[in-house]
Amino acid sequence: MSTDKINIKDHIIEALSDADLRKAVYKATASTSVSRLNTTEAIPYWEECRVKTHCIKKDVIENLDKYLELFEKNAKNNGINIHWAIDGNDAKNILSEIAKKNNVKTIVKSKSLTTEEIHLNEFLIGNNIDTVETDLGEYIVQLNDQVPSHLVAPALHLSRTDIGKLFKDKLNVPFTDVPEELLLIARKKLREKFLSAEMSITGVNFAFAENGSFCVVENEANAHLSLSLPQVHVAVMGIEKLLPSIDELPYFLKLLAPSATGQKSSSYVNFIGGPSLQKYNEGPKEVHVILLDNGRSKILADPKLRETLYCIRCGACLNVCPVYQQIGGHAYDWTYMGPIGITLIPQYLGEIEGKDAPFLSSLCGACADVCPVKIKLPQHILELRKNVVQKNKSKIFEKFAMKTWIAVSTHPKLYRLFSWKIKKLQSFIPVEYLKLPGYHKKRSFPGIDKKGFREQYYQMKKNNNEQ
Ligand code: SF4
Repeated sequence: MSTDKINIKDHIIEALSDADLRKAVYKATASTSVSRLNTTEAIPYWEECRVKTHCIKKDVIENLDKYLELFEKNAKNNGINIHWAIDGNDAKNILSEIAKKNNVKTIVKSKSLTTEEIHLNEFLIGNNIDTVETDLGEYIVQLNDQVPSHLVAPALHLSRTDIGKLFKDKLNVPFTDVPEELLLIARKKLREKFLSAEMSITGVNFAFAENGSFCVVENEANAHLSLSLPQVHVAVMGIEKLLPSIDELPYFLKLLAPSATGQKSSSYVNFIGGPSLQKYNEGPKEVHVILLDNGRSKILADPKLRETLYCIRCGACLNVCPVYQQIGGHAYDWTYMGPIGITLIPQYLGEIEGKDAPFLSSLCGACADVCPVKIKLPQHILELRKNVVQKNKSKIFEKFAMKTWIAVSTHPKLYRLFSWKIKKLQSFIPVEYLKLPGYHKKRSFPGIDKKGFREQYYQMKKNNNEQ
């Protein structure tokens, strides 16, 4: 289990006070959701593919030990060095050894949430290794001393003016907010790093047990360059990223890009089957895969919640989540955010540290509707809320409120009396007292309608009968 400390409430207050951030997040998520819908509606067998990938992932997760052993055996036969890391510290020590052995001074990284999860950059930079993110969004957030705010679009919270100012300050270039010019500036800076790096680090999108190879999916060709130029390559892979064989990959590729960005397909799929042969003058001569557990076995042990390990990190559930759309990714204060994030946070950090996370959901169900691998997110969120309440002592006021609510809502006469009293009472309470405590303090309580549901319902029925 990770030992990270998080403070969701304070980050939410900060996010809700930032109108620019909320505007940027809403605009980006809404437009990606529309693109996703347009693309997926035109894809035949979309639903069948979702069912198929759900079944494949179910098989992999239920038989993970078997597939991991097979992957290890076949990868080793291909000349790949396999390392097992129980947690982030273990993975960082392994990486540090590989870097020392190869006298590494510069590392190019391509986008990897698994390495974000273990705070790898901080560690490597702290050990005097120049470590540079090469995905454009990741490069931007790294320059801004931030972490990604979205699973797929790390710099989604920044406008192009923000990025222009950042480049001017940090890269010492004239200000521009023209996207093409910003891109060229980043490209020039990153090329220098690609050419000097001795080692590259990527994550893994999918690994194939049957032949011991793996693939990295991307749009910018930065992972491709990372895999072509440095002599040593290290892939940090969560143990759940396996597929039985390469034959299952097309189903996932068909779903991944439309769900993530609304594209029909990703621009590049890089396959790594082992170190490059001597006769080729490109590609790494040494390949390592670090199989990272970091709490995944604990999730696997729970038959109800292990479905959360099916996630392929497409980010679609974030884009449709009404909570994420209002607060953005940094408010969750951890690597994974949005509906999948709030199911993973208490599982990785424990129900006490991660106690606020499962409540960041309206339970509208939009996340489950878009999830390409059909994870029943609302069901898991409810299960985690239950676990959190059981592990944390409820406040006396909460207990009293819930018990009162149960008594009132299960006795119709009492309910009617209670709602009549409340309606009467609220007209005597000044509006400034109608604020909710905690992070809701910026919002006024909307008040109870003078005409209750029953009254409105009977009125409507009466009107209909009269017509
Ligand atoms: S839970 Fe589903 S929708 Fe959300 S990121 Fe994972 S795969 Fe995508």
